[in-house]
Amino acid sequence: MLKNYEQIFDKFCYYTNSIYFCYLKLIEFRKNMEIICVEAGPIMTNCYILADYNNSTAIIVDVAFESADALFEILNKENLRLEGVILTHSHWDHSGDAKLIYDKTGAEIMIHKEDEYRLLNPNEHVVFEIPWKLESIKPHRYLKHLDKLTFGDNEFEVRHTPGHTEGSISLINHKEKQVFAGDTLFNSSIGRTDLPGGSYEKLIRSISEQLMILPDDYQVFPGHGPKTTIGFEKQYNPFLINDLQM
Ligand SMILES: [Zn+2]
Ligand SMILES: [Zn+2]
Repeated sequence: MLKNYEQIFDKFCYYTNSIYFCYLKLIEFRKNMEIICVEAGPIMTNCYILADYNNSTAIIVDVAFESADALFEILNKENLRLEGVILTHSHWDHSGDAKLIYDKTGAEIMIHKEDEYRLLNPNEHVVFEIPWKLESIKPHRYLKHLDKLTFGDNEFEVRHTPGHTEGSISLINHKEKQVFAGDTLFNSSIGRTDLPGGSYEKLIRSISEQLMILPDDYQVFPGHGPKTTIGFEKQYNPFLINDLQM
């Protein structure tokens, strides 16, 4: 169980009103794994701490620019040792604090090879001008389609879901029926495909062939906005109703 929850919440409510746009947004209590969502950074990115309290360890899915303070605060308060950082893709709003977090914790940074180039030269691949410098980092491990990652009592399956970017991935925990979808699939929407490396056809194919084949009761935790389920998106997502060839 989360300890000192109210203290943490107060702190990040404060951040909400500051330039960091950073607050503790959602807590999911699970038997084997607890999900702590920190919505952080200028583009309100969801960073997910997946906490394994049995082993006092955690991994994080996506580390937004300006998310590190909030993430460290929670890891410290909860006495969780960070074992790894999985990036769903390399846009800076999902990877901007990777170098900082690696330097402080030594946790491996993992990403699909096809999205590595933006991590290596982040400032050359911003799509609009930003008033700060991004730090580059060489990832420590490449994630491939159908890789299985074991952390504590949980196993995560990697699905390569290109379309928003070349190397976008989704991460699936079949035991807990959870999907971490990055910017591939949102609640009632889909990721942008007009940025460099994007493809509408590929995105629809990825969602159709890799995500919509999952059972309806799988929960989807997207890179922005509220969570959803596979069943809800099958029925109501306006982009999928027209394009899905089910
Ligand atoms: Zn993105
Ligand atoms: Zn994003």
